[in-house]
Amino acid sequence: MRIRKDGRLVEVSITLSPVKDAAGQISGASTISRDITERKQFEHQLRLSEHRFRALTEQSADAIQLLSAEGKILYSSDSVERVLGYKPEEIQGAGADPYIHPDDFPYFMEKFTSLLQTPGGQETLEYRVKHKNGSWVWIEATGSNYLHDPHIHAIVGNFRNITERKLIEQRKDDFISMTSHELKTPLTSLLVYTELLHTHLEQEGYQKAVHYLSRMDAQLTRLTKLIADLIDISRVQAGKLVFAEEPVGVDDLVREVVEHIQPTAPRHRILIEGRAQREIVGDKERLGQVVINLLSNAIKYSPQAEKVVVSMTHTSDEVTISVQDFGIGIPPHHQERIFERFYRVSSNQEKPFPGLGIGLYLSHQIIRHHGGRIWVESVEGQGSTFSFALPLKRV
Ligand code: ADP
Repeated sequence: MRIRKDGRLVEVSITLSPVKDAAGQISGASTISRDITERKQFEHQLRLSEHRFRALTEQSADAIQLLSAEGKILYSSDSVERVLGYKPEEIQGAGADPYIHPDDFPYFMEKFTSLLQTPGGQETLEYRVKHKNGSWVWIEATGSNYLHDPHIHAIVGNFRNITERKLIEQRKDDFISMTSHELKTPLTSLLVYTELLHTHLEQEGYQKAVHYLSRMDAQLTRLTKLIADLIDISRVQAGKLVFAEEPVGVDDLVREVVEHIQPTAPRHRILIEGRAQREIVGDKERLGQVVINLLSNAIKYSPQAEKVVVSMTHTSDEVTISVQDFGIGIPPHHQERIFERFYRVSSNQEKPFPGLGIGLYLSHQIIRHHGGRIWVESVEGQGSTFSFALPLKRV
């Protein structure tokens, strides 16, 4: 510390140099004082900021890690111990592979590789990691690619334990699976008896009763589809949705579905435009299910419209089928989420549209299985076009 001429105390750094006389003997010393108040203040701020940062990372419920492009752990916050049981120094420099569940490893690598290819990008993923005590812990991780940032030069990951949530989800999935199977049995007998009753009443000439029975039948068909969707969703969750591999004529498939749906939608005309003139290899029943889902939605969500257009186009490597409606449309921020399981657009409509938010999720799974893509273009209040493209040759 030194006192400046104006009386203010300042931090100084002092450089001492010997002063020599003509004979080379040290005769004194010169001092140079440099005001380093600013530097000291800066260092103080830096220490404070690092202290705060440490407190944040250590107290956070999330664990934070920095990974190299090769997936090696460069840094772990102390909170890693809370999630995985390891002290940061125990896993310093380790790769991810010995810790990740073998069933989840390919998925992890796929996401990690895709993250490496997008500087500034972010990926969120769920997978199982081995806790130090030997148990598997479900974690939800978000990785951000800061490799291009010269100050960080790492993948920044934060993750948390979601085992409890996963267990609850599993119980919910088991419940859906069990209930939908239980509901299917009585429904199947109801369908059989309705048909018997229909034949009987028709023979006896009970026209009014036959009319009521047809209405009942339509509701039973709706119920059958709902239950079938619930059973499918449980199969997707369990990875047990099975697919046939057969040649499918795309034009015939679309025509058959339209003929099946048209009588159920007397207020709409379903028009087919263009021809695919192509065969693909896949599961006809499942692909038909996708067209049914898109058409049923197009009709359901355009109550004031008179037509729905199904169009088909092809290139040398894929066929595209689009279903266009002139209905309520979908706001932009919902468009990317409607393919998620149970996702529905909540609206202020007086009469909400019935549904469970399963159809598009299943359609997405089916198209993905066939190596294709599904997407939507929509303008709120004007209508939506749902399209899917299927490769002509599967790789
Ligand atoms: P559901 O129709 O049973 O709710 P889906 O999975 O088929 O379930 O659709 C998810 C959501 O996407 C719907 O709840 C609806 O909000 C929106 N949606 C789907 N198709 C259309 C469409 N053609 N027009 C407007 N909104 C649609």
